[in-house]
Amino acid sequence: MLRVAVVGSGPSGCYTAQSLVQQNSEVVVDVLDRLPCPYGLVRYGVAPDHEKIKSLQNNLRTVLEHERVRFLGGVRIGPGGVPTARLRELYHAVVYCVGAATDRRLGIPGEDLPGSWSATEFVSWYSAHPDTATDGFVVGARSAVVIGVGNVAVDVTRMLARGLAELSPTDMPQAALAALAASQVTAVHMVGRRGPSQARFTTKELRELGGLPGTGITVDPAELSLDPAYTDPSGLPAAPRRNVEVLRGWAGTPPDDTAPHHIHLRFFLRPVALLADAGRVAAVRFERTAPDGRGGVSGTGVFEEIEAQLVLRSVGYRGVPLEGLPFDTATGTVPHLAGRVLREGAVTPGEYVAGWIKRGPTGVIGTNRPCAKETVISVLEDTAALLHKHLPDDPLTALRAEGVRPVEWAGWQAIERAEAELGAALGRGVVKLPDWQSLMNAAHSSTV
Ligand SMILES: Cc1cc2nc3c(=O)[nH]c(=O)nc-3n(C[C@H](O)[C@H](O)[C@H](O)COP(=O)(O)OP(=O)(O)OC[C@H]3O[C@@H](n4cnc5c(N)ncnc54)[C@H](O)[C@@H]3O)c2cc1C
Repeated sequence: MLRVAVVGSGPSGCYTAQSLVQQNSEVVVDVLDRLPCPYGLVRYGVAPDHEKIKSLQNNLRTVLEHERVRFLGGVRIGPGGVPTARLRELYHAVVYCVGAATDRRLGIPGEDLPGSWSATEFVSWYSAHPDTATDGFVVGARSAVVIGVGNVAVDVTRMLARGLAELSPTDMPQAALAALAASQVTAVHMVGRRGPSQARFTTKELRELGGLPGTGITVDPAELSLDPAYTDPSGLPAAPRRNVEVLRGWAGTPPDDTAPHHIHLRFFLRPVALLADAGRVAAVRFERTAPDGRGGVSGTGVFEEIEAQLVLRSVGYRGVPLEGLPFDTATGTVPHLAGRVLREGAVTPGEYVAGWIKRGPTGVIGTNRPCAKETVISVLEDTAALLHKHLPDDPLTALRAEGVRPVEWAGWQAIERAEAELGAALGRGVVKLPDWQSLMNAAHSSTV
């Protein structure tokens, strides 16, 4: 049997495991994750009110329940956990599917002021990621600025505008639900530095903002018209053209001034500094930009400030280097050839990558499937050479002997039961456990 470790149980890890066992009956796979819960960003990124996308977890579950696949949660690979070199001794091949765990920075003064957060931190909070440090995101805030105009920016904007009735049926943790329900944020400004035709959100996500109960949408037709492709969208590809059509519809409708929440969509504004009052963020200073005729924008020397006690920076994700693996700092990815890890231009036998750490943080969940397939083809082509390696009998026995105590599938199922019980006790559906201790207590309750 070819024994493969897949590091990361997000979409790319699950699709890699699926493809391996589907394409070859002589393969066994361990899927390791540093978290006791599987599914990566499908559990800890996809917005809780997007139940249909969330339900993709059911498809990934069938992979992890396959008879030749084993889930080993709560096992960190790298510093503080199992070294990558040790993993290579335990498996014929290791496929790293560790995603892109950090956010890009703006690099402007005031970025780290209290009240300024990356969208990653905010998303992790409402998704119950156990590394979340605070429940205080919206405390004291009336006006929020979201910097960025991609789908994650739309997600966090929408979550700030949603009320208790809409959030309560989700699996959002109770503390986040209570905080958002009590939030005094009435204005959310979502701001892009380029024009509306260049925004990266998809039309479905954008349109959804217009249907939020109790929420008015404001766009400034004069600002939108700075974009030549807004005025004449005929040359645009279908996706941005549809976005422009949605924005045109809103520009032609008077905003609902009676709505308790307002979303202001702003364009051609580049953040230059976050401004403080009493040691906390109080506003964002922007420079007005204008199209430079080459698809970019340039500054105009005209400045504007938008009040904000909460700032969420949503300008992209970035991979982080994993000890023992090469890393391209320019792209935030591991260099590879069809999924085979490259060290100084040469293929490293037995080491592979898939998903965001391979191709960067782009695409939808489904994009990870062909990406994983390409890597699996490489693994299976290398099988004959990989099988020469002598391995200990069972990597799990070896890991346990070294003090590693993985959360196995039964442990994850115990977490699921605990989340269902918590929800029932709160009069809600499933409610996620938000901290390490309650997750590990639940997981280990399956073994006592
Ligand atoms: C906020 C947000 C919302 C999104 N919403 C949508 C959406 O609605 N629809 C859609 O199609 N796509 C969405 N996406 C994109 C989608 O989530 C990604 O395409 C996908 O999750 C990438 O898969 P991945 O497996 O490469 O990484 P991830 O999903 O990030 O999985 C990586 C896994 O590796 C584990 N890991 C990391 N480091 C280690 C380590 N050292 N040791 C062990 N384990 C480790 C992590 O715990 C994690 O489980 C969203 C992305 C974000 C950020």
